[in-house]
Amino acid sequence: MGSVLKKYSLFSLVRQSLNYHTGWERAWKSPEPKESYDVVIVGAGGHGLATAYYLGKNHGINNVAILEKGWLGGGNTGRNTTIIRSNYLQDASAAIYEKSRSLYETLSQDLNYNIMFSPRGVIMLAQTHHEARGYQRINSANVIQGIKTEYILPERIKELCKIINIDCPRYPILGALWQPRGGTARHDAVAWGYARACSDIGMDIIQKCEVTGINPHANGAVELQTSRGKIRCQKLGMVVAGHSGVLAQKAGFRLPIESVALQALVSEPVKPCLDVVVMANTVHGYISQSDKGEMVIGGGADQYNNYSQRGSFIHIENTVRALVEMFPIISRLKMLRQWGGIVDMTGDRSPIISKTPVDNVFINCGWGTGGFKSIPGSGWAMAELMAKGEPGVLASPFSLDRFKEGRFIDESVAAGVAH
Ligand SMILES: Cc1cc2nc3c(=O)[nH]c(=O)nc-3n(C[C@H](O)[C@H](O)[C@H](O)COP(=O)(O)OP(=O)(O)OC[C@H]3O[C@@H](n4cnc5c(N)ncnc54)[C@H](O)[C@@H]3O)c2cc1C
Repeated sequence: MGSVLKKYSLFSLVRQSLNYHTGWERAWKSPEPKESYDVVIVGAGGHGLATAYYLGKNHGINNVAILEKGWLGGGNTGRNTTIIRSNYLQDASAAIYEKSRSLYETLSQDLNYNIMFSPRGVIMLAQTHHEARGYQRINSANVIQGIKTEYILPERIKELCKIINIDCPRYPILGALWQPRGGTARHDAVAWGYARACSDIGMDIIQKCEVTGINPHANGAVELQTSRGKIRCQKLGMVVAGHSGVLAQKAGFRLPIESVALQALVSEPVKPCLDVVVMANTVHGYISQSDKGEMVIGGGADQYNNYSQRGSFIHIENTVRALVEMFPIISRLKMLRQWGGIVDMTGDRSPIISKTPVDNVFINCGWGTGGFKSIPGSGWAMAELMAKGEPGVLASPFSLDRFKEGRFIDESVAAGVAH
């Protein structure tokens, strides 16, 4: 199916500006749901939308609906702190995260939508000898995996980040793992860009449509009860992050997942003073500066399971206290907004992209605190799994079977607190 939406270009921008920007069409359509589709994806977060997009682009499957109970991108995709990196320890993780990072490099052109990818570089600080050894080990693994990272010393860290205090009283900075082509992108633009591209190839994005029941054996099809009526499909993809356990239960199986809130906050905007991303995992805090000038700050996940999407005072206090030692200038900033998202954590801190015990039902979840960076690669791998019915090279290590077989992909060092 050809393009139905008008292309964004410099020419269209100039034309619309002469017209007082009154002629832009809607970025994606909002159709009524049809009775049946070849594929239904539940969850219009980044992973669900990317899965749909690559089903169309790479496998020619366009009769697809993406169902979203709220508004698209309103889950974790629009709530994260946008860090992108691929410096993981295990080969399987490095492969999928690097595939993703490399897709991000050209995603704006690919989607014809500016996702504001900014490879400004990511610094992961080592503040104990144990952590320093851990990062040196990851750096060695990354060299073998062909991922460009470097273990750097305090002088270089100070060169890259002028506002950092190297001699912190509690945990002095000993070194860092540096990924120069890591960085950030605008999170909701990623969701909007994929949504527009999906709509453009004829897929139906249906918002305010909650899946409330699943009958996987309805005369050779999967039948969904939704808040907008019954919808049937040949293949179902569940891509609902923190709600994966709830949805899996509706289809009749259980997942090794815990749902936990993860919080973040932003300060008032200030002039540009930080042009790298800095993560300090020993003290549980990380920071970057948004294009608007706000300091974007996050920390560790809540220490108890919950489904709350709100922030809490204790989190501001803990996270800001942890960062003030390293960044004394933030002690004088006013904090502006705070929020939470529900992340889906597996025991080995690695994702699940897998067939399920139910025929024609597939699942993508478990990205936990770090799945924004993996949206393009995850969508690519999930689309291949759903189109062919079997996982490709990227997805096969991440099957559900690994929890039965004890074949864990342990990323608790690279992904435990880090994002
Ligand atoms: C505060 C915070 C900071 C983070 N920072 C980073 C970071 O810096 N870097 C990074 O890589 N990752 C980060 N993450 C993690 C990242 O945001 C997630 O891993 C990623 O966005 C998950 O995307 P998703 O598409 O799977 O889920 P979501 O974006 O949550 O999408 C799932 C969608 O499913 C919908 N849904 C649920 N149940 C149903 C149903 N029954 N019917 C229909 N729809 C349903 C939800 O409404 C939701 O929109 C962070 C997360 C949080 C919360």
